[in-house]
Amino acid sequence: CGVFGVVGVTDAANFVALGMHALQHRGQEAGGIITYAPEGGFSSAHRFGLVRDNFTRASLMETLPGTIGIGHVRYSTAGSKGATAIRDVQPFFGEFAMGGAAIAHNGNITNAEAIRRELIERGSIFQSSSDSECIIHLMARSIQKNIPERMKDALRRVEGAFSIVAMTRTKLIGVRDPLGVRPLMLGRLGDGWVLSSETCALDIIGAEFLREIEPGEMVVIDAKGIESFHPFEPKKPRFCLFEHVYFSRPDSILGGRSVYETRHQIGVELAIEAPVEADLVCPVPDSGTPAAIGYSQQSGIPFAMGIVRNQYMGRTFIEPSEQIRNMGVRLKLNVNRALIAGKRVVLVDDSVVRGTTSMKIKEMILDAGAAEVHFRIASPPTMWPCFYGVDTPEKEKLLASRMTEDEMCAFIGVDSLKFISLGGLYRAAGEAGGRNDASPQYCDACFSGDYPVAPTDMIVKGFAL
Ligand code: 5GP
Ligand code: SF4
Ligand code: MG
Repeated sequence: CGVFGVVGVTDAANFVALGMHALQHRGQEAGGIITYAPEGGFSSAHRFGLVRDNFTRASLMETLPGTIGIGHVRYSTAGSKGATAIRDVQPFFGEFAMGGAAIAHNGNITNAEAIRRELIERGSIFQSSSDSECIIHLMARSIQKNIPERMKDALRRVEGAFSIVAMTRTKLIGVRDPLGVRPLMLGRLGDGWVLSSETCALDIIGAEFLREIEPGEMVVIDAKGIESFHPFEPKKPRFCLFEHVYFSRPDSILGGRSVYETRHQIGVELAIEAPVEADLVCPVPDSGTPAAIGYSQQSGIPFAMGIVRNQYMGRTFIEPSEQIRNMGVRLKLNVNRALIAGKRVVLVDDSVVRGTTSMKIKEMILDAGAAEVHFRIASPPTMWPCFYGVDTPEKEKLLASRMTEDEMCAFIGVDSLKFISLGGLYRAAGEAGGRNDASPQYCDACFSGDYPVAPTDMIVKGFAL
């Protein structure tokens, strides 16, 4: 998901909508905005679909007045899948003794079901199936006198990944979990302040990027300025390595490093680790493109757009149902026959999850008359599900959890298939010494099985580490 918030600007909702539009790659199922104006109180709008199809209509935007607002773009990793329930669309709102508060959450709370069960027994009435809603209920039960303090109380009870943008009538609040699994950025816009999942959404509104919210930090921003707290026991940060590979936009900055630069460098590492004789290097667009450029530059094999992407389709993977995902590849990608016929082609993609994309693309490339097809993958084999906010399927559906590299190569039916090593990926992400196995610099659980936070709810359901 993507979260965004502003305070201290006229027509906050317009900035929030623009920010959400720039974060659309983080979630395309639904979006919501909540604002506050002294005259009318809190206003909200929650809609299925894309930001541009909803939050550009004047008739809707006029209903969201105020100089403070937050927004959320949704990609379901917990709760109901797909556009099934508008009540699962964030931001969530709660009315407390000291006034209302709204929160938007990116990540996944790994003990949400345990908390939900306990709270329901004690009388809480849940509205949604979302893991994030438990934060509102925990806040409601806190005995603290103000909302930031109640949030601290609530968040000390939850485990897992959270980057949160929240608001009261006057305050914009940003929080990151102690591991800092998901990103959260702080920006300045004139006299106003901005919180955003990624820097690309600061760029779109012309805000200045100040810094990242630190892992374990809470910031509370109002007309008087910004205050910073560290409400949690400090831990060694474990940012999501997959944000660098796929999830974030290539024009964003993460950990002081350009996402594009990391992806390009992954291609360079891949060309060194897994060279092959070929005529063309083609990306599986868009997510494979920077790595393909790196592979081409390092290997000297010419780069070509052998696969063309229809710009009007979203990210295939993010469509939650199997059926749509299967069709999606053909709807989104098409082979540039004139380029491919008779050529030995290196295809660079960011990841293999179920293998659906690679299978379809191989068929399309061979149909177009390619002489050889070599897959190069910009991440290590995805062998473990993510419980921190990326929607990987259960372990049994992950191709790499069932097969070795050679078996996957035979199964997909290509001439060769190579993944970047985990060490190579760390080097590409700027860790010259590779992965520190004693104390890894990133979360890489989907590749290594090394989960930095025990997935409590999943263990209860029988998931074995
Ligand atoms: P597959 O088709 O193998 O199931 O999925 C791999 C494709 O899904 C890649 O092309 C990748 O770009 C895309 N993808 C989109 N979202 C995600 C995600 O959240 N996780 C992973 N691993 N891949 C994703
Ligand atoms: Fe990121 Fe993978 Fe860790 Fe999930 S398991 S947070 S996708 S690195
Ligand atoms: Mg892709």
